[in-house]
Amino acid sequence: MRISCVGAGPAGLYFAIVMKRRDPNHEIVVHERNPAGTTHGWGVVFWDDLLATLRANDPDSAQAIADAAVPWSGQVVDVEGQPPLHAGGGGYGICRRRLLQILIERALALGVELRFESEISDLSQVADADLIVAADGVASQLRRHRADRFRPQIEAGRNKYIWLATTQRFPSFTFGFVPTRAGWVWFHAYSFKEGMSTFIVECAPETWNGLGLGTMPADAELRVLESLFAKHLDGHALISRDGHDTRLPWLSFRMLANRTWRADNVVLIGDAAHTTHFTIGSGTRLAIDDATALASVLGEHDSLPHALDAYDHRRRRALARVQRDARLSAEWFENLPRYIRYNAPTFLTLLLARRSRLLKRMPARTYLYLRGHYTKLTGRGGSPLARIGRPAHPFGPKADCGISGAEPGTPHR
Ligand SMILES: Cc1cc2nc3c(=O)[nH]c(=O)nc-3n(C[C@H](O)[C@H](O)[C@H](O)COP(=O)(O)OP(=O)(O)OC[C@H]3O[C@@H](n4cnc5c(N)ncnc54)[C@H](O)[C@@H]3O)c2cc1C
Repeated sequence: MRISCVGAGPAGLYFAIVMKRRDPNHEIVVHERNPAGTTHGWGVVFWDDLLATLRANDPDSAQAIADAAVPWSGQVVDVEGQPPLHAGGGGYGICRRRLLQILIERALALGVELRFESEISDLSQVADADLIVAADGVASQLRRHRADRFRPQIEAGRNKYIWLATTQRFPSFTFGFVPTRAGWVWFHAYSFKEGMSTFIVECAPETWNGLGLGTMPADAELRVLESLFAKHLDGHALISRDGHDTRLPWLSFRMLANRTWRADNVVLIGDAAHTTHFTIGSGTRLAIDDATALASVLGEHDSLPHALDAYDHRRRRALARVQRDARLSAEWFENLPRYIRYNAPTFLTLLLARRSRLLKRMPARTYLYLRGHYTKLTGRGGSPLARIGRPAHPFGPKADCGISGAEPGTPHR
């Protein structure tokens, strides 16, 4: 089969790898608009479930990825003015650039043709392919080309965020919340390689405007953020990937869903098909899952249209629940003032329950009351609510809810 993959992110590269492993006779070209070695963002987190998928599909790259990853252990929630609290869980962080380098090397070793600085903005550029895989990310041009068929729905989240890095170590997944004269600003941080951590800063648009963020040169703004988070950074600098001379590239997260993921011989995978808010840390795993699912259905069906229909059906169904969870998690952070007025242990309980539909629908106090009542009745902390409202996994599949600190209590301000 002649396959054109557009986009050398995790989705496009991994699909090319798995297809070549299944049949070296496939002619696969991956087009990437950027030069080799260029990427956005810093480190991403993942869990053992991704490693298991990688090992099952390509042990060589799985081993290289496992070797390049660093473990993080537990979660820390630090609300200024209150003692930091610790919760369970653990996973891995990996540098996005290193991950892509591993996948590129593996794809080349298997005979995939990689064309960098090859932007595909029109389907006619890849018209000779039997299958066109649109792995060109959330702003996919191929999807836009067939928007009448894919029917994308894109919704921008309310909050502003920026994906930075620092040399400060965060051996636990750390959430730090700092009050300012214009509202709360917070960060999500974790190590992704020796001596480097991801540091995502997020706040409400009113806070962003009130602090004048986005209006100053990048360097000045980094200094402002460093002073806000001085206690956590302990003298380490914040680093932007986009150079320090221009403005910092603040964004609003784009939540994307499509009515269908296939149109004729064009198929969407990864962020081109769906996004999940970064507070559930799943986009890379889901991109890899799309890639392996697409390769599987192509092996199961003789007819390309049937295979693509099966992929569309299977993956869209799988994504519906994850996207709902991701939306709840994003909305939780958009409604932070509802929760941060509670004392730290209660706030942590609510943070860990952020994927719960029940929590969204009722006052936090009522949710806590019901949760406490169930715990007393059954001796099982919050589990019936987990069945109804899915608050079970606080952060990814390997985390647990064990919290160390005082008992949940009442609002502190
Ligand atoms: C702040 C933040 C934090 C995140 N943290 C995590 C995390 O901890 N864990 C996790 O699993 N996920 C995380 N994600 C999500 C993850 O980064 C994405 O889901 C993942 O990169 C999707 O992979 P992809 O291959 O589909 O798309 P991308 O990685 O976006 O790759 C798309 C590629 O296509 C190329 N391209 C685009 N247009 C064209 C064109 N016209 N022609 C040729 N090439 C083109 C781009 O240059 C790019 O290289 C995070 C996302 C954000 C925003």
